[in-house]
This record gives sequence, structure tokens and C-alpha cells, in this order.
Amino acid sequence: MRRGILTVDVEDNFTCEELVNKDDWPKYESQVVDNTLRILALLKSNNARATFFIVGKVAERHPELIKYICQDEHEIASHSYWHKPLNLISPREIEEDIRMSRDILSSLTGTPILGYRSMGYSIPDDEKGFYTLLKEYGYAYSSSRKPEKKNNVQTIMNGNIFQIYPSVINLFGSKLVFSGGTYFRILPIYVINKGCSVYQRLGQPIMIYVHPWEFNNDQPKRKVPLMQKMLQSPITFTTERKLTYLLQRYNFTSIKEYIGL
Ligand SMILES: [Zn+2]
Repeated sequence: MRRGILTVDVEDNFTCEELVNKDDWPKYESQVVDNTLRILALLKSNNARATFFIVGKVAERHPELIKYICQDEHEIASHSYWHKPLNLISPREIEEDIRMSRDILSSLTGTPILGYRSMGYSIPDDEKGFYTLLKEYGYAYSSSRKPEKKNNVQTIMNGNIFQIYPSVINLFGSKLVFSGGTYFRILPIYVINKGCSVYQRLGQPIMIYVHPWEFNNDQPKRKVPLMQKMLQSPITFTTERKLTYLLQRYNFTSIKEYIGL
């Protein structure tokens, strides 16, 4: 069976601006637990493993969720603490984010946290310094950027830390991340298959990422710009169908298991 790496970015579909103050949290209906449970059930029925990148604030608000994910023997990794783009916060805030997300997640799991994924594949200006910090705080890999060149390798060692890239396809002169988010939702399955087959030919695993909110058409009301509203409309929610399709064709595992950490 073909190999794949599956990752889940555990968050509700709210922007960091909407959730920046803890006092505001009760205004937003959190669905992240129920939606993640749907993903866990789907993975269990397909005997698949995944890495769950958890936003530190989500872990604080829903510690039971970490327990459910661990019970099914998936990997827990960090999806930052605040879920803010790293290119928009100060170096001190980046370090705090790296440390705080590690602390909350390792205290809930009782194990070291080896992986970090930034919000929206954002990279700070001092990228090298960012990897040094990750290493200092005990992380072994980063899944925080899109690949720079052609989609020839999925994982590389860079700056003493593993890099795990989302899978991309060269289409219409652009490199599209077909393996998650908006493109995974809106691209037809045959384009996704085409992207996957490139990796297969190269003997590389595909790396897919999904979000729990993509598994629930009944989304809470939000005030966001029209374009965002359209691209994140439940009309585009094909993620569950496409992931089910891939689960039947790929042997999915976590990043930790794939690297052999
Ligand atoms: Zn995210």
C-alpha cells in the first residue's frame, strides 16, 4: 500500500483576532472537540495514524481532547500557542509561543513534544533562529513551511531539525498546496490524485493536512471578509469525502512514526 503522512490542525475556524482575548472565548461556539472526535472515528475505522497539531489555547480549553487523541495512539504536536502568524509577532513572543505550547501539551500528555507547526505555514524573518529555538526547547521537527523548490522531497534535514512539507503540485505555472486547506477542498479529486502520483513515482510519501471544522457543515456565524466566507463556506467541505478516499488507498502514519523518532 502507498505511504502517506496524515496531519490534523486542531482548531476551531476562528481567526486569532477573534480569539485574542480569553474573555471573548465564550462568545464563539467551540465545536473542536466534536469535530475532532469525527476524525478520530474515521481514522479508527481505517486503521490509520496521524499527527495532531494542537493549538495551545485549544488544549487549555479542552484538555479532555488530548486524552481522546492519545487513547487512539496518535501523535500530539504543537500548532503554536496563540495561533498567530510568526512573521507578525516579535522574536520574544515567538519564543514564548514555542515554550508555552510545549509546556501545556507535554504536561497533558506526559511525553516530550517533538513537532511544531506554525499558523498558516508562516515563517519568521529569522528562520534559522526559529529552528535553533525549536531545537533548544526539545523539538525534533518543524512542519511550518511550504517547500521552496519543486516537489521532489517530502522530508529533509535542515539546520539540525527535520522539515516536513505539505505536498504540492505544479499547476498553471504555480506550485499549489493540493494536500490541505482551500485547494484540497476545491480541487477535483483527479487533480489531487495527479499530485499524489508524482510523489508515488518519486518514492516519497504524500503529506495531507486537514482541519476539524472541515468535517462539520453546521458552522457558527462569523464576521469575516466575503472572499474568506466563500472559500470557507460549507459548500466547499469535501474534505471528509476526499480523506476517506485517500484512507482507502494509502497507509497513513504520523510524522513521528514516519521519521522514526
Ligand atoms: Zn491553524
